[in-house]
Amino acid sequence: MEIANECPNCGSDNYKSRGSFYFFAIGVLLIGISFKFLIYIPFSLIGISFGIILSLTSIFLKGRKVCKNCGQVFKKI
Ligand SMILES: [Zn+2]
Repeated sequence: MEIANECPNCGSDNYKSRGSFYFFAIGVLLIGISFKFLIYIPFSLIGISFGIILSLTSIFLKGRKVCKNCGQVFKKI
């Protein structure tokens, strides 16, 4: 059984998985750093909200592929 795993836009199989884990790690790291700088309220609030958004986005993006050829983002088939 063959699984079609090429880009739906240009048909290239030269794609990479979007590093959703990196986004999640950066998000968590950002939250951690922001908590350390909690005395600077505006800065830390921006950092924490951005970190949460980044972590949530990484979960949402899980399993997506990015075509190296044309930049098309598509779901793993
Ligand atoms: Zn493509």
